[in-house]
Amino acid sequence: MSARVIMHADVDAFFASVEQAVNPAYRNKPVLVGGSGDRSVVMAASYEARRFGVHSAMPMSQARRLCPHAVHLPANGKLYRRYSRHVMRVFLDYTPLVEPISIDEAYLDVTGTERLFGPPLEVARMIKQRISSELGITVSIGMGRNRLLAKLASDWDKPDGLRWIRDEQLPHVLDELPVKRLPGIGQVAAGKLRELGVRTVGQLRSLSSSLLEQQFGKSGAYLYSASRGEGNDGVSFYSQPPLRKQVSEETTLAEDSADLSALHTLLLEMADNLARRLRKQGMLGRTVMLKIRFPDFKTVSRSVTMLQPADTWQPIYHSAVELLDKLGLGGRSVRLIGIGVTNLSDQTADQLILFGDESVAQAGKLDTACDELILRYGDGVITQARRLR
Ligand SMILES: [Mg+2]
Repeated sequence: MSARVIMHADVDAFFASVEQAVNPAYRNKPVLVGGSGDRSVVMAASYEARRFGVHSAMPMSQARRLCPHAVHLPANGKLYRRYSRHVMRVFLDYTPLVEPISIDEAYLDVTGTERLFGPPLEVARMIKQRISSELGITVSIGMGRNRLLAKLASDWDKPDGLRWIRDEQLPHVLDELPVKRLPGIGQVAAGKLRELGVRTVGQLRSLSSSLLEQQFGKSGAYLYSASRGEGNDGVSFYSQPPLRKQVSEETTLAEDSADLSALHTLLLEMADNLARRLRKQGMLGRTVMLKIRFPDFKTVSRSVTMLQPADTWQPIYHSAVELLDKLGLGGRSVRLIGIGVTNLSDQTADQLILFGDESVAQAGKLDTACDELILRYGDGVITQARRLR
């Protein structure tokens, strides 16, 4: 069997590029996409705007100061969804193994597509060519034998990049790469590595696995293998999950309990799990149900419908706590507690992000980032502060 070839394809400055593709007057001009309220952030900045130091997730007010002549546009979710679907369809023309990571990026397993479409670089060129001619936007593509390498490669010479990190170049091709470029390395980890005298991936490789584990705990193993260009090569099938009517979780307590704070912690865990399941299925839930069973097996349930459908833990958790408060345990013990989310729709959160208020969008982004970390490091890495207490 030939070695695996994983591709990471990522549209360049997606929302801003779509706006420029649709409206020729915006081409070659700095474009900022995002709201205009006090708390608005930049959802996308064209490369012309990035030259002024603007980047996405920056407060819009700051971006406007840096680049006052930029074209400032509200997000047009419907339009971006349409482009996203088209991009994903192009990917699917070359392999059924397409795993979308966000609205504008995906991993593709192109191992063995050679007979049909030619060598991997040829496949990458065809995809780039089609997206550019059919949609008028550019995509950066990176390839390697695993997801880590593919992602590093696609970031390498963005925009409109194309790079294949080949096995025989490993691990030394990564030597000069700043450690910050490794996925999952945030400010804190980068700072800690700097204290250890490590700025580049090559320097990171010189640290022993025991030192890394001692300094970074569970993530130490990731750093050790990432510095060697090793990583996960799995890509899941892109499929439409069947539309479900509800998702729910319940827990029977080890001991009957009336401890509100312990119950809140359980609700938080369940809300987090449910939100993750919703996101995985691309669904939003609008109604939250709380189920309580008392030691005498009497069971009650209460529900509340939220103002906005959600796929993040915060609104689900807060609704469940509110229901519990209303129910008023009055010191009674609880045997079982559960949450259900119903009234599901299969809109994806992206639509909500684009149309809803930005605090919801931010929560969504944070949760998606957490999902990625959990995928990468396994469960238990990310825990809300409350659970740690
Ligand atoms: Mg992108």
